[in-house]
Amino acid sequence: MTISPRDAGLKLLREHALIAGEVVTGAARIAVDDPATGEIIGHIPDLGVAETQKAIAAAVEAFPDWSRSDPHKRAAFLREWARLIDENTEGLGALMALENGKPFEEAKGEVAYANGFIKWFAGQAERLIGETQDSPLGHVILTFREAVGPCALITPWNFPAAMLTRKLGPAFAAGCTAVVKPASQTPFTALALAELAYQAGLPKGALSVITGDAATIGGALTSSPDIRKLSFTGSTPVGRKLAEQSAPTLKRVSMELGGAAPLIVFADADLDLAVAETIKGKFRNSGQTCVCPNRVYVEASVADEYATKLAAEVAKIPVGAAFEPGVKVGPLIEDKALDKVEDHLKRVRAAGGKVLTGGARHERGGRFFQPTVTLGGDDTLFREEETFGPLIPVFPFETEDEVLTKANDSEFGLASYLFTRDLDRAFRIGRRIEAGMCGVNTGLISTAVAPFGGVKSSGYGKEGSIHGIDEYVDIKAVTLALK
Ligand code: NAP
Repeated sequence: MTISPRDAGLKLLREHALIAGEVVTGAARIAVDDPATGEIIGHIPDLGVAETQKAIAAAVEAFPDWSRSDPHKRAAFLREWARLIDENTEGLGALMALENGKPFEEAKGEVAYANGFIKWFAGQAERLIGETQDSPLGHVILTFREAVGPCALITPWNFPAAMLTRKLGPAFAAGCTAVVKPASQTPFTALALAELAYQAGLPKGALSVITGDAATIGGALTSSPDIRKLSFTGSTPVGRKLAEQSAPTLKRVSMELGGAAPLIVFADADLDLAVAETIKGKFRNSGQTCVCPNRVYVEASVADEYATKLAAEVAKIPVGAAFEPGVKVGPLIEDKALDKVEDHLKRVRAAGGKVLTGGARHERGGRFFQPTVTLGGDDTLFREEETFGPLIPVFPFETEDEVLTKANDSEFGLASYLFTRDLDRAFRIGRRIEAGMCGVNTGLISTAVAPFGGVKSSGYGKEGSIHGIDEYVDIKAVTLALK
């Protein structure tokens, strides 16, 4: 009998937390809804300090064996986990679509993207390579890359699978154990992935997933001297707070925080390509991504042409609920998110910006917003705040220096994008732009093999690539005095 994708998703939904692989239900429960309808799809336990400490204790207990295990064995575990994720792509994608609202096809794409990190870091586990060096003291120095220790991993709702595997892949490859706190709006994907990790043979205690009040759980994790590493993906204000809380115990910290990405189009660019890539970059997850273009700058001589083409394409984007065929843009995660898009739209209009398409909540109501393009007005707001919704404000510019100054005049520095056919300019701007990542003639920059991370208030640390595992290892030097 075939079941609908929605039912395949619901089959993987678990209304519990996991401490050391054991199911924990808890008395008080937090409701999780489908952003497309507001309908409650399930509940998670509201756990607190005691349960978090239990999870930390389990991670501590599991750490010696796991960290000293053969890295090839950990690689084999990661590959088996990846195989199970591949096998469950439909169910995981559907579960994610239900709790996050992103289109089902896009959600399945995220499952594949997320799994890319597990597959990549399986290989990295086999490459925990040390060095040897002759010392000027006449000794030989050997270096070993050793697991940092039990880790706390806190993830956001916008990529419920990928933000987790980008941390767990390298953590497990390095030999770390982990306590995960997923976002309360999208906990079920993390719980389903954790269940598959245990099915794949993860030792008990190596992973716990704790749900409940974020500040309480975050406080217990950051104050614990047993947690040696915190990796956080989320908003800059929360990241700052967690970094402060982690300071007394001198934890290693990685921060993947907010952005306000500039996208720059020069007059010599292929405008059709620029339009298509702007749309790809912007509308994933309905514009709720940390790397999506927040402000588009177009050289004045082609600004009208680019904006008109962009608006014509954006007007065609199908908006709807996750399982409706052909849908490309879904609802926003919560009502507050629509208020923010409306506020940004009001402010860009007040500053003289014209709406070329969209410009209001979607006629189907609920949390749907029309994909929107504006032209003109003031860009200050968009340098300072991410809209996190389906609004593209386009601003004309005159010179390269002017646009680079504007692009860099932001406290954030995560992603950036550049469209030009001039190779010199691509290198010049690519090097001078203050961002952790720059896409040249593309709106898609994230894969497991690319170093992902920001500068300035967008955080520090790298995820993915050959660097991602460095966040989870300490380098130990053993000096041998050989006769
Ligand atoms: P958020 O409010 O900062 O929440 C992120 C996570 O932190 C959630 O699990 C949340 O739990 C938890 N949290 C909130 N307050 C906490 C506290 N006081 N102590 C410990 N944990 C706490 O961010 P969000 O709204 O979910 O995510 C959107 C933000 O993430 C955007 O700014 C986006 O740019 C950024 N982001 C960055 C990247 C990147 O790689 N740089 C990737 C994706 C998203 P609850 O859900 O229970 O509140």
